[in-house]
Amino acid sequence: MYKLIMYSYKFIIFIIYIYFILSLDYNAQNSWTGVCASGLKMQSPINIETSKLEKDNSKFSFESIDYTTITSTSISFQHEYSVSTPDLDNGNIKVKINGTDFTYKLKNIHFHLNSEHSIDGKLYDIEMHVVHENTNSNDEQNLHMVIGYIFKAEGDTDNEFLKSIGFNTGVTVSNVQVQNIVKKENVYYYKGGLTTPPCTEDVNWVVVQDIKTMSTSQLAAFKTYITSLDSAYANGNNRNVQQLYDRKVYKVDLEGENEDQEGENEDQESENEDQESENEDQGNGNYLKIHTILISLFIVILI
Ligand SMILES: [Zn+2]
Repeated sequence: MYKLIMYSYKFIIFIIYIYFILSLDYNAQNSWTGVCASGLKMQSPINIETSKLEKDNSKFSFESIDYTTITSTSISFQHEYSVSTPDLDNGNIKVKINGTDFTYKLKNIHFHLNSEHSIDGKLYDIEMHVVHENTNSNDEQNLHMVIGYIFKAEGDTDNEFLKSIGFNTGVTVSNVQVQNIVKKENVYYYKGGLTTPPCTEDVNWVVVQDIKTMSTSQLAAFKTYITSLDSAYANGNNRNVQQLYDRKVYKVDLEGENEDQEGENEDQESENEDQESENEDQGNGNYLKIHTILISLFIVILI
């Protein structure tokens, strides 16, 4: 009986610890634990200093972009660590990194208020992360590829892609076409980590050079939305920039390849018109699943 009480006690402490990790506080980033704190000198985000880039087009290339139009109506603007769609498990993208071929699958799209990467020391308004997972789950060094889009708000012209995924209103949307935003563009490439715990250093970062625009009302709506969710987001949900150490950031110029890509995308759209998403019941993301499992275990222990 005593042992059972002790095990329960330890388990409750463990649950409190996990909840602490999951309730990510952007006002206390120094309290983030694990690799976030210990870091192996490959943390993200970073400041991208344009005068110190190494221009090398062989470091990264988009080989093919083959997303499936997301016809599910279950996609909506949600709050996890950041604001994100549910796991999409959608389409794939083939890239070449340092001469090696990789196939990544789209997992989620989420946003940070204040960009996470800064350019020459300047933070912008929003950064969108299009998160991909390696189809080869054994490749621990390259498990993720995140394509980052930096936005600045100006004028009253809405960004159409943001609008199409419910960014303005948080409503449930359908017919999301990721291929409308992810294209062969000039990018910065570097090796880094996840910008939320556990901050694992397994990310191939691809930050699009072109700063995108959104309307000031889109930004205002997002700001109101995210800051009202939790006091932890009062100043935004961007992790502070981390030291570069001896890493290199590459400037990869792929301009001129978009025309072919647009043709491919048109074919892709028509192919996918009738395709139903298999992911309607995908749920609300890994963290929600972890919460549910923990709560279930907690109840079992109490019983
Ligand atoms: Zn992110």
